[in-house]
Amino acid sequence: MTCFFCKGSMVESTTIHTVELKNCIVVIKNAPCLKCDQCGKETFTFEVTQRLEKIIDKCKEALAEIAVVNYSAA
Ligand SMILES: [Zn+2]
Repeated sequence: MTCFFCKGSMVESTTIHTVELKNCIVVIKNAPCLKCDQCGKETFTFEVTQRLEKIIDKCKEALAEIAVVNYSAA
């Protein structure tokens, strides 16, 4: 896979994904991503995006102000 922006090569990595919602902030640690080794742009696969959305939905129900979740444990 090549980078959409600079055509560099994408390597497997992990990142911290932070989402700001109306009433809470969700921080998802160790989210698997593909990172460009040239410009540093990170992208998620479709599967990971879907799973992140599910984790975020769960956090909305928990009504915590700040939720810190480990991707692999969620
Ligand atoms: Zn790039």
